[in-house]
Amino acid sequence: MADSRPRPVRICLSMSTLQNRQFRLIARPVGMVKRSDFEFTTTPAGEPGPGEALVKVLYLSLDPAMRGWMNEGRSYIAPVGLGEVMRAGGVGRVMASNDPALAIGDTVVGMTGVQDYAIVKAKEANKVDPRLAPLPRYLGALGMPGLTAYFGLMDIGRPKEGETVVVSAAAGAVGAVAGQIAKTKGCRVVGIAGGPAKCGYVVEELGFDAAIDYKSEDVAAALRQHCGKGIDVYFDNVGGEILDTVLTQLARHARVIICGAISQYNNLGAFRGPRNYLSLLFNHALMEGFVVFDYASRYPEGIQALVGMAMGGKLKAREDIVEGLETFPETLLKLYRGENFGKLVIKVAGE
Ligand code: NAP
Repeated sequence: MADSRPRPVRICLSMSTLQNRQFRLIARPVGMVKRSDFEFTTTPAGEPGPGEALVKVLYLSLDPAMRGWMNEGRSYIAPVGLGEVMRAGGVGRVMASNDPALAIGDTVVGMTGVQDYAIVKAKEANKVDPRLAPLPRYLGALGMPGLTAYFGLMDIGRPKEGETVVVSAAAGAVGAVAGQIAKTKGCRVVGIAGGPAKCGYVVEELGFDAAIDYKSEDVAAALRQHCGKGIDVYFDNVGGEILDTVLTQLARHARVIICGAISQYNNLGAFRGPRNYLSLLFNHALMEGFVVFDYASRYPEGIQALVGMAMGGKLKAREDIVEGLETFPETLLKLYRGENFGKLVIKVAGE
């Protein structure tokens, strides 16, 4: 009887002639990242080994966490080694495959690194359908940031109808999704963002109930105005001063979700910790951190929820697309300067 199992596909392109530009980390940044922290190299793309595929990177995800990955020291993930290609998520097209799970032409999301071509393990690459959504969205609302918002809010925040949810970096990749999920749960949602354009977007486009411009408003006074009964859930993306201010206005049994602390990532000194933490005691409240990768086994659940929202018109998203792999070090800085408006991606190559 004929063996009907799919056979490994091995396509021998002339991969030695494909030139692969890469950003390699060569110095541990001090404060803000600089171009001189990287070396821009060109090497042959290489050939996929057993269980691997060669992927042409189309879009790269730029994430605030990249700054932490460049530091030495203990974290939830090993630091990028000096001399290694800078770690990054990306979406790309399979050019050659040495695994039956991936075929030439498949579109996949995975950890590609900051380069033109990546050799990825087939079992670590997720196929996506380019007809269902624009490709950059699989790096944003329908990708890791969307999943971060979903699991952080649903598992730690556990929002209930009628509760007040506050989200910082509300116009960004994670915050925008967190706030929209909270709206679907019947919550009153207040965003905190920098500048009138982002605040207008959060209310008018994303449907938040109110937005606070932390760059021009008194955040404590604005929170009192918009969260009269106190804050039941705080989805914290920024840490620092804003976290401290929110802590003073918690409701009883509040849940504070520590998703990130972007205001602290480029500090030259130590991270600033929360000063007003005793509010957790007075209010019988909880503060808990999480890392999205912990939820890998539940990603299908999260994707299903996000796709469901998108199909129902309840998940709006925008991407901030910058052209050119060569812009990587400067483009990354947009995140820490609040210059990105939506999920920040680099377009590496045409589709
Ligand atoms: P993003 O919100 O799209 O972009 C970052 C935004 O942070 C900037 O646009 C800026 O918005 C704001 N920001 C920058 N510096 C700030 C400061 N000093 N004070 C206040 N706000 C500042 O980024 P993202 O990808 O969605 O990530 C948001 C947060 O989630 C980050 O802290 C990130 O590390 C975290 N995260 C955590 C996980 C996890 O597993 N726990 C996974 C993904 C992301 P404004 O213009 O509004 O200031």
